[in-house]
Amino acid sequence: MAQHDTTVNLTGFDLFNPTEEHKMLREMIRSFVLAEVEPQALEHDRAERFNLALFRKLGELGLLGITVPEAYGGSGLDPLAAVIAHEELSASDPGFCLAYLAHAMLFVNNLAVNGSEDQKRRVLPLVCSGEAVGAMAMSEPNYGTDVLGMETTAELKGNHYVLNGRKMWITNGCIDDAGTPADFVWVYARTGTKNGKPQLSTFLVEKGFAGYEVGQKIRDKTGMRASNTAELVFNNCQVPKENLIGAEGSSIHHMMRNLEIERVTLAAMALGIARRSLEAMVKYSKERHAFGQPLHSFGQVQRHIAESYAEYRASACYVYDTARRMRLDAAGNRLDSDGVKLIATTLGKNIADRAIQVLGGYGYVGEYVVERLWRDAKLLEIGGGTLEAHQKNITRDLVR
Ligand SMILES: Cc1cc2nc3c(=O)[nH]c(=O)nc-3n(C[C@H](O)[C@H](O)[C@H](O)COP(=O)(O)OP(=O)(O)OC[C@H]3O[C@@H](n4cnc5c(N)ncnc54)[C@H](O)[C@@H]3O)c2cc1C
Repeated sequence: MAQHDTTVNLTGFDLFNPTEEHKMLREMIRSFVLAEVEPQALEHDRAERFNLALFRKLGELGLLGITVPEAYGGSGLDPLAAVIAHEELSASDPGFCLAYLAHAMLFVNNLAVNGSEDQKRRVLPLVCSGEAVGAMAMSEPNYGTDVLGMETTAELKGNHYVLNGRKMWITNGCIDDAGTPADFVWVYARTGTKNGKPQLSTFLVEKGFAGYEVGQKIRDKTGMRASNTAELVFNNCQVPKENLIGAEGSSIHHMMRNLEIERVTLAAMALGIARRSLEAMVKYSKERHAFGQPLHSFGQVQRHIAESYAEYRASACYVYDTARRMRLDAAGNRLDSDGVKLIATTLGKNIADRAIQVLGGYGYVGEYVVERLWRDAKLLEIGGGTLEAHQKNITRDLVR
């Protein structure tokens, strides 16, 4: 398989490609990444611009509905295939990959698992092909980790639910600089309280619904600049009753189940960053000389390389093993989805940091890629659950 920067094959193990189909998928995505994703990555990061045309090509490759049954226009693949896609895209352009994740995992997979037959027949073909872009809106200006406290409300009035509130930090919340909203948003809102607990329900909100608009595109992010992040506003937004997902009050179940695949694929993105950073370190340490010797002959550089290799391999084994054991239609992977995200994201960020160190001044500027990977890596310790949330969840499950 072609590599970005080195002849070392870091992903040629059965655990990472258990079937011929997985191996071919990885090769197909890697070729696409080298030909089409890599050449545009720096420019889109600099411009803080989402590459919608490139995103739509992922639909032609069958990646936008990677986990969706073929009957609805998807590719019918498993969570391990989704991990391969995220690792490969993220090794080149984590920002672009985050937009892919928000669409393919947070919206498309969520709908495929939890939507009604009518909702799936109507919407999945559009989002699997790339004709339409999806997003998921859970976080709010005042509620992130403490998500069950959300303030957005939905009230049934006749044939419509009326949504009021604001959602914050929504990836794909807008799809261009003009603030055009996503075609579909998976929105969580409060529909009441039962026994003192908030009742959350899920709504399919569509572009053009009265009262749904983009509040602002969030600019000047540290990293992930090739994905758009936006605030969404729901002001007496009229959502037809048919767009309620599942039963009223049943959202916590959806939310927790989808967080599992979200966390595993975010961990896979960290693997892509780690692997690319390691490849960059190895290559540069052979080419660059100091004191008449290649950099890799210095013990301190060897430590950066060797620890990064071992950490990448260890976290990759954990991520792929967790993906192998996951089922999309059932919860039950909570402990390890928190576990892989906790470990892989920080290791990914640390490996990108070492790569900058090994490349010295050249590592600190855009052309050599690793500074972009390092900036992008930080988000993975925050989005989809902060490190502290994973620590809390893991401990809660272990002491139960
Ligand atoms: C670029 C980007 C893209 C995003 N995309 C999406 C998206 O598509 N959809 C979406 O819904 N959200 C999205 N988010 C939001 C993201 O999921 C939240 O930022 C994240 O959940 C943290 O919430 P918060 O920012 O409100 O931080 P807070 O919850 O306010 O946390 C602040 C700090 O307090 C800590 N903290 C909070 N509670 C506890 C506790 N009980 N114990 C210990 N420490 C605690 C946190 O760990 C953190 O360190 C995105 C965010 C960013 C930055």
